[in-house]
Amino acid sequence: MNNSIVNILPQLKTDFPDITFIQGDSFFWTPSERKITYTSHQDVAEHGVWSLLHEVSHAQLDHKTYENDFELLKIEASAWQAAKKLGKKYAINIDLEHIQDCLDTYRDWLHKRASCPSCSVVSIQRNDGVYQCFNCLTTWKVPRSPLCKVTKKVLSH
Ligand SMILES: [Zn+2]
Ligand SMILES: [Zn+2]
Repeated sequence: MNNSIVNILPQLKTDFPDITFIQGDSFFWTPSERKITYTSHQDVAEHGVWSLLHEVSHAQLDHKTYENDFELLKIEASAWQAAKKLGKKYAINIDLEHIQDCLDTYRDWLHKRASCPSCSVVSIQRNDGVYQCFNCLTTWKVPRSPLCKVTKKVLSH
């Protein structure tokens, strides 16, 4: 059974020798070092395996950075798509509902960042990364968020 990280990690290390896997406190991909940080602390063991496949997909797709917030959402969606495919190779079926939940987190994050602090109208990012409201012309800056690090916790700030 490949339903926990302990079971699948040795296989992934063999199949992806160019990626370094390191235990940490959350899941993320560090492109500059081709390093995946993972954690074995999750309520559902399966979710850890799915996250791990998601990070390997970022590595395979060579995801490095993103130009704007909307692109981050696209990158995350494509990593999940690739993870679903990759899972088949290991007889792991990633639940589509789980993928939707994860992407919803990014949609919420995007919506919150894109909402005007003065009048709440949702606007788009300019090329310089600054948002400008269509309605009242307020501009606001958003901090950059690394891949996979968008969480519900951050949203509640
Ligand atoms: Zn506004
Ligand atoms: Zn990701």
